[in-house]
Amino acid sequence: MNAEHAPDMFDDLATAHRILVNEKVLDAFGHVSLRDPAHPDRFWLASAKPPNLIGKDDLLSFGLSGEPVEKTDLPLYSERYIHSAIYAARPDVGAICHHHAPAIMPFCMTARPLAAVSQTGAFLGRATPLWDSADEFGDTRLLVDTPEQAASLARSLGAGSLVLMRGHGATVAGSSVREVVFKAVYACRDADALKEAAMLGVVTPLSMGEIEKGRAVAAAAVDRCWKYWQARLGVTAV
Ligand code: MN
Repeated sequence: MNAEHAPDMFDDLATAHRILVNEKVLDAFGHVSLRDPAHPDRFWLASAKPPNLIGKDDLLSFGLSGEPVEKTDLPLYSERYIHSAIYAARPDVGAICHHHAPAIMPFCMTARPLAAVSQTGAFLGRATPLWDSADEFGDTRLLVDTPEQAASLARSLGAGSLVLMRGHGATVAGSSVREVVFKAVYACRDADALKEAAMLGVVTPLSMGEIEKGRAVAAAAVDRCWKYWQARLGVTAV
């Protein structure tokens, strides 16, 4: 961290973890990263610890190989390659969240697609991809802890915003930390709504036209939600 970085960006990245714990996206597991605006071939990710305990001093700089730029003795997330592989494959991605939220887990173990069923879920499209580690790697620990597995996951994400991981969780890509928080939370809300609606009857997903019109998440909506979720933490919104 130095003068070439906006002072708020590290605060936002630390706050994103607390918001996502508070909104039941992260628990003891999961992490959020930010592409370095001053060095697009690097990203910032915390050392391995519970997300609600992460402060800006825990953030480390990583290269696109998934290894820290400066040698460290701190414990590292074994799944940091998820972040490096997606930043390498997607120049448009500025922030990434990997999580195991209970809301999306049923979609990680059934053939039922997670699809956009509400305005705030339009970015999900008609069906999110489901990456199955067994397809290329057979029996694993269901952790994405090698660059090869992460590259395969990034291919499955394609140009989308969210990829489900069979028996594991999901990875969400956004243009900024605040946008990826929006997408992570609202993918869970959409998943909850879809599960409840399916108990009542046949679910009507958004049409392709509705998805196209609603896909781009409005900056004003991202900002409003960030302030709302931040206030729920008991922090004064800026
Ligand atoms: Mn995981």
